[in-house]
Amino acid sequence: QYFSDVVKKAIRTVPNWPEEGVMFRDITTALQDRTVFRKLIDAFIHRYHHLSIDAVAGVDARGFIIGSVLAYELNASFVPIRKKGKLPFDTVSESYELEYGRAEVEIHKDAFQQGDKVILVDDLIATGGTLLAASSLIERLGADIIEAAAIIDLPDLGGSKKLRDKGLAVYSVCEYA
Ligand code: 5GP
Repeated sequence: QYFSDVVKKAIRTVPNWPEEGVMFRDITTALQDRTVFRKLIDAFIHRYHHLSIDAVAGVDARGFIIGSVLAYELNASFVPIRKKGKLPFDTVSESYELEYGRAEVEIHKDAFQQGDKVILVDDLIATGGTLLAASSLIERLGADIIEAAAIIDLPDLGGSKKLRDKGLAVYSVCEYA
């Protein structure tokens, strides 16, 4: 509880960005604070180090920041899940609804071995659409998602509940209601 308050204090809220009415939770200030950044990574390591994780999959782009450091510390591989059109080799892709229109995420088709134990990470869970699409990609490649993890959950938007209803374990460091 104390730790999640420390992280929340370090996160900057930018009102009306990227559009009117949105309260954007900006994690760059938490990354800039070297003590908070280290504690944040340590929290994820502490949670997963005993689970023999094979790979950490990070979602483009803020999921890369946490995900790659976590993968390094867990002695796991790092797999990028990218926005459409960025990966050079053969991919599988999933499209999902945004508030306005659709988005698509992709992964290299040879990113995992069958049965790999994977942690999926992004910075924030809002409607859950991004992590749900990302989780489908991982499952389609035959890997097992041990948990979907984020720094921030916005529970009022229902995303974490939607993910849990699909049978995924979900972890977040802090919440904004
Ligand atoms: P969802 O798909 O759950 O609706 O939205 C989550 C995705 O949108 C994440 O990839 C996240 O990076 C981005 N996102 C949406 N709102 C915010 C926000 O307030 N702060 C940050 N840092 N990312 C956000």
